[in-house]
This record gives sequence, C-alpha cells and structure tokens, in this order.
Amino acid sequence: MLCDLCQESPATIFFTVELLGEKIDQSLCQTCATPLSERLTQPIPANENEMAPPKRPAEIILSEPIQVSQLAEVLHLTTYQVVGALIPHQIFTKCDTSLDFNTASLVCTHFGTTPQKAN
Ligand SMILES: [Zn+2]
Repeated sequence: MLCDLCQESPATIFFTVELLGEKIDQSLCQTCATPLSERLTQPIPANENEMAPPKRPAEIILSEPIQVSQLAEVLHLTTYQVVGALIPHQIFTKCDTSLDFNTASLVCTHFGTTPQKAN
C-alpha cells in the first residue's frame, strides 16, 4: 500500500482520523508522517548545500595529449562545458577526443585558468 500523501513511498504508519463525523483511514510513509517542523530542524544534506560553484584552479599543468574528459576533470567542468567552449573555435570534439596543448589552452583560458605546458 502506498502513502496517501505522496503516493510514492510505501505506507508504514496507519491511523484513523475523525473529520466532520467521518472516520477516515490514513496510511502514510515515514517521511509524510514526520511533522514538518521536525523535518526543518534536520540538517540539510551536503549536496543540496553546495550551491557555490567549485573552485577552478588558477593554473594547471597540461601534458599532451589530454582527453576532453580528463581536461574537464582537472578544470572541475563537465565534458559538455569543455566541448561547448571549443565550438566557437570551430573545433568539434567528443569526451574521448585527445587535445593538443594549444586546443586545451583555449578551454583553460575560456574558464579563467592559466595553462602551463608540462616539460
Ligand atoms: Zn508519503
């Protein structure tokens, strides 16, 4: 049996309320049965609290060739952001495309990171 309120979670709490002389059977899940005030005092999950954008390194050292997915990781970007940053330069890549230093540099500078070539 599903919860009467959210219709999603299985109901674990059953009770009867009397409303205008009518007895209504209620089945609620744990979440819906928890009073709102109690839920509000619970700590906010960490992932909901991380609204600030991740810190991007001011400088990175690039060793060639670097794949789009690797570059995205070091810059704390999604591969789509890396691919998207290259489109205005008429460079069309995929997540496993290997980039040379100059191409990777375009992405770095676009996102405010100074690239350094690894020796
Ligand atoms: Zn529920």
